[in-house]
Amino acid sequence: MKKIYITRQIPEVGVKMLTDKGYEVDINKKNRPLTQKELIKAISKKPYDAVLTLLTDQVDAKVFDACTTAKIYANFAIGFNNIDIVEAKKRGIYVTNTPGGGADRVAEHTLALVLALSCRVVEADEYMRKGKFKGWDPMIFHGTKLAGKILGIIGTGRIGADVAHRAVNGFGMKLVYYDVKRNDELEKSFGAVFYPTVEEVLKVADVISIHVPLLPSTQHLINAERLAMMKKTAYLVNTSRGQVVDENSLVLALKNGVIAGAGLDVFEFEPKLAKGLAKLPNVVLTPHIASGTAEARHEMALLSTTNIIQTLEGGVPQNSVV
Ligand code: NAD
Repeated sequence: MKKIYITRQIPEVGVKMLTDKGYEVDINKKNRPLTQKELIKAISKKPYDAVLTLLTDQVDAKVFDACTTAKIYANFAIGFNNIDIVEAKKRGIYVTNTPGGGADRVAEHTLALVLALSCRVVEADEYMRKGKFKGWDPMIFHGTKLAGKILGIIGTGRIGADVAHRAVNGFGMKLVYYDVKRNDELEKSFGAVFYPTVEEVLKVADVISIHVPLLPSTQHLINAERLAMMKKTAYLVNTSRGQVVDENSLVLALKNGVIAGAGLDVFEFEPKLAKGLAKLPNVVLTPHIASGTAEARHEMALLSTTNIIQTLEGGVPQNSVV
């Protein structure tokens, strides 16, 4: 009987796909991510054929050594920076992700952060709750209109392109972008203007939205020097991965008025926040929930378990990233 280990509770639909195949499924019952030590201990108990991981699991050579029977690590996430794919490739182990699982919802969440900043929703909500509203006042909470403003997208893959479409068609924004690959479709459909360097996009945009994967080349892609190139009135939104932004430098930039505000769903030291970040009035923070809907989690459960079944039935998993 094939054996599967799942590192944290996922929607039942995915577990059922595996048990319907007659596989034996063990699931971490703790309501928190496993430490790497706990993960190693858990997967070394049985000769598992597959492991379903979350982005909170650090999977490297030590983990692969602990369970040499596993043919696939199916990541329940769009990103896969938590898995050492070079090491997996060396060992002939499949690594898969769940692309598309919630990409549209991440785009919606990105725009929720943009709107929260431009309409000052969080500050205004706090003002109301504290009983500070004394009647209509033309001088309070001046926000920023998005129509006609320039959105700069860094990374125009699935999510970046989805954000572009909504921002242009929904809010009348103009589009500039930087990516290592040019996106003809985006240029044709939305009049997007390509800039060959990230710096050029940072200089002209009113809102910067980041949608790159976490790679050695994107770690601290946004640092103090690049923040200083942005307009003082600009907002930075990051729903990609926390380590793409140097968070300590961002705190300084926000404190010193180098940029106007930031909307963050992901954090460099997750789940911790950089010192001073939570005290700033010009930030909107959400706990890595950009793809968090029941529909998206359902789709991610189906995709990750489909990849496992395809592998264990002798095929190539549809979402292999190595
Ligand atoms: P994708 O692979 O479709 O697109 C990524 C884009 O980034 C590609 O166009 C690629 O060419 C570009 N890119 C790669 N390296 C680059 C670099 N150095 N500079 C500029 N561009 C570069 O991925 P996607 O589905 O759009 O997802 C993007 C990222 O969003 C994921 O890798 C993941 O980390 C993150 N994500 C976050 C959440 C969340 O809950 N906050 C949910 C899903 C995905």
